[in-house]
Amino acid sequence: MAKLTPMMQQYMSIKEQHKDCLLFFRLGDFYEMFFDDAVTASRELEITLTSRGKAGNDRYPMCGVPFHSAENYVQRLIEKGYKVAICEQVSDPSAGKGIVEREVVRIVTPGTNINTDNIEDTKNNYLLCIELKDNKIGLAAADVTTGEFFVTEMEDEKKLFDELAKFLPSEVLVSDGQSGNSSLQIEEARKRFDFFLNLYPEWNFDRNRCEEKLLKHFGVLKLDGLGLGNYDVGIIAAGTLLGYLYETQKRQLNHLSKITPYSVNEFMMLDISTRRNLELTETLREKKRRGSLLWVLDKTRTAMGGRMLRKWIEQPLITEEKIQKRLDAVEELINDPINREELKEYLDEIYDMERLMGKVAYGAANGRDLIALRNSLRMLPHIKSLMECYETSLLKDIHVNMDELEDIHQLIDNSIMEEPPVTLREGRLIKDGYHQDVDKYRKASTDGKHWIAELEAKERELTGIKNLKIKYNKVFGYYLEVTKSYLNLVPDRFVRKQTLANAERYITPELKEIEDTVLGAEEKIVELEYQLFTEIRDKIAAEMERIQKSATKVARLDVIRSLANVAERQNFIKPHLNVEGIIDIKDGRHPVVEKMIDNDAFIPNNTFLNEDEDRLAIITGPNMAGKSTYMRQVALIVLMGQIGSFVPASEANISLVDRIFTRVGASDDLASGQSTFMVEMTEVSNILNNATKDSLLILDEIGRGTSTFDGLSIAWSVVEYISDQNIIGAKTLFATHYHELTELEGKISGVKNYCVTIKESGEDIIFLHKIKRGGVDHSYGIEVAKLAGLPKTVVERSKEILSQLNESDIAKKASDIEVQTSIDEDLITSKQHEETVVQVATTMETQLNLFDTHSYDLIEKIKKLNILEMTPMDAMQTLFDLHKSAKDL
Ligand code: ATP
Repeated sequence: MAKLTPMMQQYMSIKEQHKDCLLFFRLGDFYEMFFDDAVTASRELEITLTSRGKAGNDRYPMCGVPFHSAENYVQRLIEKGYKVAICEQVSDPSAGKGIVEREVVRIVTPGTNINTDNIEDTKNNYLLCIELKDNKIGLAAADVTTGEFFVTEMEDEKKLFDELAKFLPSEVLVSDGQSGNSSLQIEEARKRFDFFLNLYPEWNFDRNRCEEKLLKHFGVLKLDGLGLGNYDVGIIAAGTLLGYLYETQKRQLNHLSKITPYSVNEFMMLDISTRRNLELTETLREKKRRGSLLWVLDKTRTAMGGRMLRKWIEQPLITEEKIQKRLDAVEELINDPINREELKEYLDEIYDMERLMGKVAYGAANGRDLIALRNSLRMLPHIKSLMECYETSLLKDIHVNMDELEDIHQLIDNSIMEEPPVTLREGRLIKDGYHQDVDKYRKASTDGKHWIAELEAKERELTGIKNLKIKYNKVFGYYLEVTKSYLNLVPDRFVRKQTLANAERYITPELKEIEDTVLGAEEKIVELEYQLFTEIRDKIAAEMERIQKSATKVARLDVIRSLANVAERQNFIKPHLNVEGIIDIKDGRHPVVEKMIDNDAFIPNNTFLNEDEDRLAIITGPNMAGKSTYMRQVALIVLMGQIGSFVPASEANISLVDRIFTRVGASDDLASGQSTFMVEMTEVSNILNNATKDSLLILDEIGRGTSTFDGLSIAWSVVEYISDQNIIGAKTLFATHYHELTELEGKISGVKNYCVTIKESGEDIIFLHKIKRGGVDHSYGIEVAKLAGLPKTVVERSKEILSQLNESDIAKKASDIEVQTSIDEDLITSKQHEETVVQVATTMETQLNLFDTHSYDLIEKIKKLNILEMTPMDAMQTLFDLHKSAKDL
């Protein structure tokens, strides 16, 4: 290839340093891409690929996008998993000689995208960094659009998956040395959570380097000062993440003003399937917000409040004191509907202060952003004084401690015009009276325009040219225009500049003088306004921490108000909290289902569980009767209580639970290559291994995905295992169609039977949705199938088969099974409880299921023997083999 031009050499050397990115190379009003980048970008963005250079072999591919619409193209590329390096012209093209200097000013990746137009207001955009060391996992998470920064540590990978389910990051950094490490199943996590996996060079994960970065960024001498003293591996994750942000963002990151260390044990643990099954923030199947708990509870008025409520729902508390504070604040606001309404009006005026401050930190905030910030700040004194009358600590805190940021409000109010333009390079940003030079130039510019009008009138009079006009264009500046018919009146002092078809254009010294003042002033004012604006923005950036603190208080208040509003409208009540292990709910309702169905059509139900005789409720009842709804409603009521929300019931006494586990319905996890039954058993095994006596378990139809006998046997032994107080003893709701399990009441302590009632009316059934004590022995599956529209012949035939099967009812046998009240100690103490279940499952399978298939194989083998052609020795050997196979069955 021929020698490259100096500009292309510059391109090549910058590209060399950013090999893993698509390089957006600024050339005038375009970003250009060359070589392979151009081919990739033109394909991904569907833009025309052209070429550059001399004809023949020296031509190379190129494509470009206009700079003003570049954000959208960048967004599309990062959504497709590319990193984009933005290379700008950093020296003034008109000033210097030679080629313009260029520099990469920012690298955009999914987790560092600051283009908030493409990020949902009420969702965070998290970048995570994960480090595994000495059997500990460190995790750091940051949202560069809001400045939030968290760090934690955990011991096992299951918890890491739970955290991933909570943060739902768009990008995850791990060491490139660790990616192949089997103990960190990052690839599996990537498939499941669909984030951009960024394998980052291992040397970045150096402990000392990370520590230095954190100390320097936060300006402290010791990590203890940040509360990170005990976070050995967390420090590595946080330091690496910070280093990556500096490397890609190439600027000060003032808005990451604090780091919040937390322990995963501070919050109720919710695994991925529980989050999904309880439909906390989106529905299970359609992934829609409508139909989720968030949808019911979210009446927040600000984007910050929306994000905070989502966090509250995603991490319910487990400390009574903290929950009580939230509940008390919600109660106090419920009792004051007038203030709540006034508060709503103030909150409605508040913009997303956190993201506005993100823009300020990035130097990306324009005049309109500052006006939005000012309008938000204007509400703070009103909110603060409105909180004066309250006694509960969270509301009082706002009155006592919220910084009203009066100085910042004043600064913007005095300096920035009410309706500034979007760009910063066309003036009209700074208010009159803020800076004397701005006033001076502005006066010169407006006066100059006035002078021009005066001059026009004067020249008309002097020359007698009635239609003489003073006009302006970019090439000549101001000029006098005289049409052909008046040319004879043009005086000598007019200097001709241009001749048109029917007019001539002139200048005069006097006009040039005025022009210098007007144009000079306009140029100067634009530059000065820009400079003043950035100074104001920097002053605001310097107050980052104060502004963020007030923003957090506003968000919290918004969440409390939202919970109060929903509680009042939906008739929720304040739960009483206890630590005695009692869950006593009167007239509980499902918060989402009751909102989805017609008014008042929802049938409330009671629940009573304790650590004594009522630990495990076996719930039977027909299909469609409402078992799943009931169980989820109990889980949701407990969860709502622990986030500090009122609950749908007439009375509720809720024991704080450490975890909620759910095993609900059948779902294939085809992506991870697991069958429905395998997924179900993996979830059950997770529950049996991790549940404690303080957990709440919701188990819906365990063992449904296999043969009846296998399923029943597994369900039975799972009940025995959970209810054993020496092993788990957790409070459990266990719905099943295996009516045989109702035999367990009275045989195992703590087990009680409940059923959902229906009314039979001739051939039809009416669902009453009411839970009562006792069991049922009939699923009415055929009746429900009939309701669903199964062909009549199929329904009739099903009834026939059912009556024949009933004659060999396994329930009769079930009553003979001896209940195992305590499982062999060796099995429990052996490392994995899981093995117990697997053993139970396989033993049953051998007894009940293998018989069918294996004996069939044996018979097939015998059938195929060609006896007449066997030698006596063959016959002997075959007989020996068959005997062995039969014994192995
Ligand atoms: P299956 O055994 O077939 O899974 P199920 O007993 O779990 O059924 P659900 O799915 O809980 O039944 O409920 C079926 C429908 O009944 C729900 O979609 C809901 O509309 C309605 N329903 C459930 N509980 C109530 C209730 N308490 N009040 C009014 N309607 C209810």
